[in-house]
Amino acid sequence: MLAEDTATELHPTTLFANGEFVRSEATSRLTLTDPATGVAFASAPDGTPRDVDLAVAAARAAFDDGGWPQSSRSERAGWLRALADALQARGADVARLVTREVGHPRDFSYEKNVVRPAEILRYYADVAAGSETDVPRAATSWQGTTTVGHRPLGVAGLIVPWNYPQSLTMAKLAPALAAGCTVVIKPAPQTSIDALLLAQASRDAKLPRGVINVVTGGAATGVALVSHPGVDKISFTGSTAAGRRIGEVCGRLLRSVTLELGGKSAAVVLADADLDRLAAELPRLAFANAGQTCHAHSRLVVPRALVPQIEEIAESVASSFILGDPFDPTTTMGPLVSAEQRERVHGQVRTAAEEGARIVAGGSPASDLPGFFYQPTVVSGVAAEQSIAQEELFGPVLSVIAYDDESDAVRIADSTPYGLAGTVFSRDPEHAATIARSLRTGAVGLNGFRPDIGAPFGGVGHSGIGREYGPESIDEYCFTQSVYAPR
Ligand code: NAD
Repeated sequence: MLAEDTATELHPTTLFANGEFVRSEATSRLTLTDPATGVAFASAPDGTPRDVDLAVAAARAAFDDGGWPQSSRSERAGWLRALADALQARGADVARLVTREVGHPRDFSYEKNVVRPAEILRYYADVAAGSETDVPRAATSWQGTTTVGHRPLGVAGLIVPWNYPQSLTMAKLAPALAAGCTVVIKPAPQTSIDALLLAQASRDAKLPRGVINVVTGGAATGVALVSHPGVDKISFTGSTAAGRRIGEVCGRLLRSVTLELGGKSAAVVLADADLDRLAAELPRLAFANAGQTCHAHSRLVVPRALVPQIEEIAESVASSFILGDPFDPTTTMGPLVSAEQRERVHGQVRTAAEEGARIVAGGSPASDLPGFFYQPTVVSGVAAEQSIAQEELFGPVLSVIAYDDESDAVRIADSTPYGLAGTVFSRDPEHAATIARSLRTGAVGLNGFRPDIGAPFGGVGHSGIGREYGPESIDEYCFTQSVYAPR
């Protein structure tokens, strides 16, 4: 076992298994680069298959022999609350760290990496404490009762992306623990250090050993976890390409899998929409976290007659952002996560312009700043089939697409292989709800999109399989058992 606060170091040499920071056997290291400066500032072990073995063995022992699945949901609720308190006690460090890792502006980082994850933990504590797992019902085929229960699946491998590291981890961790699973977390390389801080928080909260384990590493570490024979469940959030590979492995192994993947969400503006409301919602809808949000609404589908007016609104929203040092409290948009990502985003914008689309705002890297900043960008005259309107960009780029009638609007909104989110803007709530119900997406907002941790979130098509959030998410970590009791 190493020093107590190994995790707060910027160059840890450990993984977290069985309640301890233990030396990783990795010889190669991940480099973490501050995207606001382009300067490397931290490193972490690129976890080996042997590191994964250690972590899975710890989770396995905690599940098989440690009594965690036998504890009551109310007891586990107590642990979830303790973890929320411990994370909040380290909140300032966590938020600062994520700002350096991925460039979240200071207050945004605290909100998304401390407040929200603690809220998720407490929400699942309440759900777990109040949920009955064994519900008897009168049998249908004979006289007697059948009691339907939900048993924890076992060891869950949680594989997480970098864009909202703590919230997205907690969306898996909280329901998994509530269900009675033990876990191995594999964070994204970019956010390795804050994941080890979470491990430290679990020590502070004195969670039973082996219930939470963390192995840092890249895709190969994730591959080792997905196919590990000691794992019963994989919950993955990330790109569609990686999700497809993970789904293939889990299919072959007949391993339960939840996939939260990419999106290409559309805001559909109806002719009677309140355009002031649209202007107020657009910053969050399209540009939050510099567009690096799975449910970013990167397409604005608008009535042809309103295009000039809406272009003006979008241009004014885009130019209202203040880019700069994410630690400066006046900054409202941080950098993109990497130079490659910025180049990819810019490539798509350039191609769209070459194909005839008009750049209404932005359109290039913010060359006056160090690091990987990109100007908030609005591209208009975009056709639904163009690649800028089909592919997930993960950047601050909004495409304006004109429609002729409402059925055309729905067709355009549904024209990508994704189906994660969408929003309908209209002054008529019933009509908006009718259009919303006709969209092929896992979640739809009316005059604004606010994910609710009390309700399932997830996609259809290339956006994934399964749901997170809401009481339902606990069932993603359980198998259903029917106990027959004939009279
Ligand atoms: P990514 O797919 O590159 O990586 C995600 C995680 O998976 C990382 O930890 C990575 O190391 C690991 N990984 C990569 N390939 C793997 C493999 N073959 N086997 C096992 N693990 C593997 O994604 P990213 O760039 O970190 O995140 C951005 C993506 O995440 C975007 O596509 C975004 O839409 C998606 N996302 C989806 C949601 C959602 O809820 N649907 C939420 C946030 C982000």
